[in-house]
Amino acid sequence: MDAKRKTELKEILLKIKEQKINEIKQNNEDLRSTDSFQNDAQDSADTATNIYDKELHSELTEKNKQLLTSVEEAIKKINDGKYGTCESCEKDISLERLKAMPFSKMCIKCQSVAEKK
Ligand SMILES: [Zn+2]
Repeated sequence: MDAKRKTELKEILLKIKEQKINEIKQNNEDLRSTDSFQNDAQDSADTATNIYDKELHSELTEKNKQLLTSVEEAIKKINDGKYGTCESCEKDISLERLKAMPFSKMCIKCQSVAEKK
């Protein structure tokens, strides 16, 4: 992969990183406001909704955190010059795949095998 392409993908990754950090922050703020609201809630139906919201938010945060880790690993790989290689079969990951998912760790083939497990 040429340097120009790497720089492009790194910029995309940095943007995703920033976006995910903001989403996690936003989620945490939502969680906090749910907390204070829950203390005032008298109706049990409201409380149930709040608990559901809370679970949804923490699930989202969890997913975002995982994604953020993948993004950070990808950035590190670009810096180390190891980016774009499948972690499983060590072949190059296709550029189309990297453009769609720049934080991919595996090629499409290995990914689909991994997901079936
Ligand atoms: Zn592979």
